[in-house]
Amino acid sequence: MSTMNMLICQEPKKLIHEKREIPVPDKHEALIKIKSVGICGTDIHAWGGNQPFFSYPRVLGHEICGDIVTLGEKVTQFKVGQQVAVIPYVACQQCPACLGGRTNCCEKISVIGVHQDGGFSEYLSVPATNLLQAEGIDPQAAALIEPYAISAHAVRRAAIAPGEQVLVVGAGPIGIGAAAIAKAEGAQVVVADTSAARREHVASRLGLPVVDPSAADFEVQLRAQFGGSLALKVLDATGSQHAMNNSVNLIRHGGTIVFVGLFKGDLQFSDPEFHKKETTMMGSRNATPEDFAKVGRLMAEGKLNAEMMLTHRYPFSQLAEVFERDVINNRTLIKGVITF
Ligand SMILES: [Zn+2]
Ligand SMILES: [Zn+2]
Repeated sequence: MSTMNMLICQEPKKLIHEKREIPVPDKHEALIKIKSVGICGTDIHAWGGNQPFFSYPRVLGHEICGDIVTLGEKVTQFKVGQQVAVIPYVACQQCPACLGGRTNCCEKISVIGVHQDGGFSEYLSVPATNLLQAEGIDPQAAALIEPYAISAHAVRRAAIAPGEQVLVVGAGPIGIGAAAIAKAEGAQVVVADTSAARREHVASRLGLPVVDPSAADFEVQLRAQFGGSLALKVLDATGSQHAMNNSVNLIRHGGTIVFVGLFKGDLQFSDPEFHKKETTMMGSRNATPEDFAKVGRLMAEGKLNAEMMLTHRYPFSQLAEVFERDVINNRTLIKGVITF
């Protein structure tokens, strides 16, 4: 069998199944047979035609788990049959960020499944340097290593230590991942989300306390969780202008804010509030290979799993038919994964 089924985003709002030749890996690549692929907000935006720096046609999917079926002749660090996760970021390795080890914010970053064809396909050839060994991990969880790695990067940016009081704002996949990882690191974590369904998800699947930021007594509830204080560290994964502008009001003096969610506009907050607290404020973008490796370890140890994040599963063969109804217009979706 030398052809494979793939799903192509031909133009906004048009996904079509197509048969193509299975690629032959070049000498530094490995061919993987895909087992599961997570569906990300980026895929949803690309489908809708509102993903910046995006061109069509494109094969979406950057949260990928598969088995190695063929190795390029120069690839020595992997074996045929190994299960791997894809690290989808292709950094230039030459810009100042890359040279400083911060490949996650490379000036010319290209992402497999966004800027080049990705995992909505039965097979994919990937540079071996973009693979992470993921043996012994549930394939659906392994597909979620990428979003969990983004969460892990935010937790690392915040330098969270055991016992620290951490508020995660926004219980989408990245917020859920950040909460789960901060908890695994021994922090005291509380999660805020305006959606009752998402609060319920966090309470039941992560066993963490939740608060509603739209409640009139939100601050009182928050202080009650943290022994009277505000949070030492706030991780904002909302991408909401209102929430991000308000984050300086949620930390105590000497606190830290990490913005992992992105709002496409300007933020505005009180400088006196920012200053009097001597706030540390930072952005968190993508993830580095060490964040991926850390998530792989936490999954292998059972501290992270698919169920914490995942709400929906879709068979690949039917994805084009159900994408608009069951993914785009699905109000209950937090995280979906495609199974092959
Ligand atoms: Zn993603
Ligand atoms: Zn670079």
